[in-house]
Amino acid sequence: MSALMGQMMQMPLMISSLIQHAARHSGSTEVVSKRVEGDMHRTTWAELELRSRKMAQVFARLGCQPGDRVATLAWNGYRHVEIYYGSSGSQLVVHTINPRLFPEQIAWIANDAADSVLCFDLSFLPLVEKLAGELKTVKHFVLMTDRAHMPASTTLAKLLCYEDMVAAEDGAYAWPSFDENTACTLCYTSGTTGNPKGAVYSHRSTVLHAYGAALPDAMNCSSRDVILPVVPMFHVNAWGIPYSAPLVGAKLVLPGPHLDGKSMFEMFESERVTFSAGVPTVWLGVLTYMKANQLKFSSLKRTVIGGSACPPAMMKTLQDDFGVEVIHAWGMTELSPLGTLSKLTSRQDHLSKEAQQRLLEKQGRVVYGIDMAIIDDAGKSLPWDGVASGDLVVRGHWVISSYFGKTESPMVTVDGEPGWFPTGDVATIDADGFMQITDRSKDVIKSGGEWISSIDLENIAMAHPAVHEAAAISCRHPKWDERPLLVVVKKPGAETTAADILGFFDGRIAKWQIPDDVVFVDELPHTATGKLQKLKLREMFKDHKLPTA
Ligand code: AMP
Repeated sequence: MSALMGQMMQMPLMISSLIQHAARHSGSTEVVSKRVEGDMHRTTWAELELRSRKMAQVFARLGCQPGDRVATLAWNGYRHVEIYYGSSGSQLVVHTINPRLFPEQIAWIANDAADSVLCFDLSFLPLVEKLAGELKTVKHFVLMTDRAHMPASTTLAKLLCYEDMVAAEDGAYAWPSFDENTACTLCYTSGTTGNPKGAVYSHRSTVLHAYGAALPDAMNCSSRDVILPVVPMFHVNAWGIPYSAPLVGAKLVLPGPHLDGKSMFEMFESERVTFSAGVPTVWLGVLTYMKANQLKFSSLKRTVIGGSACPPAMMKTLQDDFGVEVIHAWGMTELSPLGTLSKLTSRQDHLSKEAQQRLLEKQGRVVYGIDMAIIDDAGKSLPWDGVASGDLVVRGHWVISSYFGKTESPMVTVDGEPGWFPTGDVATIDADGFMQITDRSKDVIKSGGEWISSIDLENIAMAHPAVHEAAAISCRHPKWDERPLLVVVKKPGAETTAADILGFFDGRIAKWQIPDDVVFVDELPHTATGKLQKLKLREMFKDHKLPTA
C-alpha cells in the first residue's frame, strides 16, 4: 500500500516572498533608519522591495553568479536590508561580517567565505582601505552611501557608489523561485575554539525561523508593532527581525551606529517603538540616561533580551520602574538564532509572583521548530526536574547540520539517536520545559554580547618571555556581563607585572578583548590528562574584583 500524498501547491519557502508580502499588503508601512550620515531616513516596505529588486539587478550587473557571497560591514539600516533581500532573493548569499572583530580576523573570515563583493558603511571606509590588500577574492567594493558622501580620494583601486548603482537600474526584475534549501545567508561564529566557523542558513530555515520568532509565545510580533532591533544585523541577522517584521507587516526602525542611551531613547519615543531586542549591555546605557533625566517610555511595551544572561535586577527595573515586559531568550548563531524564550503559560497562573519571576529569569521554553535535551557524558538524557544539569543539545528546522566548508559533522547522539547539535552550554530543564543555563562547557568569554576566545588570549600570553603558563577565564562584570581575567604562572626566576603582561596584548588583539586583570599563581589546576580545569579556575576566582567593575 502506498501512502496517499497531499494535493497541495508546492511553493518553495523563499526569502523574497517575505518582502513581496510586505510590499503588497503593508506597502505604505514605514522603514525608518538613522543613517551613518547622521540624518533620519524614511521609506516604506513597497519602496524597499523595489530597491531590493534593483540591488538584485546591481549584483547581476557586477557579474555575480548563483551562490556567490556578498559580504557586508554595516550597521542596521535600510540599505543593509536591501542587500539582504537583493542578494538572497537572487540566489546569492549575504555574508554579514562583524566589524567589531580584529582586522586580521575580518580578513580571515572574508577569505574563508571567498566573498566576491563587499558592501560597507561610510564608517568602515578606513578599515576596508587597510584590509583591501588582504582580501583575496573581493572583486567589487561598494560604499553604501550617495554621491554627495563619496570620499574625494581613497586608496581603493575602484570604489562603487551604492546610490549611483541603484539609480542606474529600473527594477524590472522578477524574483526567481528555486530550491528552498539553497543558501541565503552566511554568518560566522567565533563562539568555539579555533578559527571562526560559518553557519549557512537556507531560504527554508530562515522563513521557518521568521514564522517561529513572530509567534505570540516568542517575540509576539504583529502588524501593529513598531520594531527597533538594537541587536545588529551582523549578529545572526538581528535575531531574524529583518525577516519577521515584513512577515507580519510591522514598522521597522533601524538605529544605525547611534546606540548610546540618549539616541536610543529619542528613537524609541519619536518613532513610537513598541518592541525592541538586544543584549543586556545596551539597556544599561538607555536606563542610565533615562534615570538621570527622569524619563519614562510612552510606547515601548516589551523587549527580548538575550545573547547573554539577562541580570535579574535589569529585568526587574525594566518591568517595575519602566513598565516594559522583558522576554529573556537564549539562542546561538548555529540556531539562526532563536532557541528558547521565557514566557509564562496558563499552567503557571496559580504560582506566586516570586515563583513566576524566577521562571521568567530562566532562558525559557523552546519555540516550535526546536527540540532540546540535556545529556550526561555518556549521551544519556537527564530528567526534566529543574535540578539535574547536563550538556544542552538541540535539533530542529533552523539548526545547522554542518559548518560552511566542513565535511565533519558536529552532531552527537542522545539515547542512541544521532543528529543532535551540542550547544556547549550546560543547563537544567524543569517539568514545564523551562530551560536554565547554569554554565558553559565551551572555552570562551562573552563580553557585552561579543565573543572573546580564551585560547587566543592564552596563546598571546604564552608568547610573553616571562610566562610559563596562562589561562583566560571569564569573570562577572556589572556592565559587560563577563570580562576576561588572565591567570598566569611565571617562568622560574622571571620578573614581570600585570601591567607589563597587559601591555603585551596591545596590537595583538582588538583592544576590547584585552583582559581586565592578571593574577599570578604558583600553578594552574589540571585534569589527569593535562587539560586545564577551567571550571575549577572559574570557581577559584568567582569573587575576584576586576579593577573595571
Ligand atoms: P552566539 O552564537 O554569538 O549567538 O552565542 C551563543 C551563546 O551565547 C550561547 O551558546 C550561550 O553560551 C550564550 N547565550 C546566548 N543567550 C544567552 C542567555 N540568555 N543566557 C546565557 N547565555 C546565553
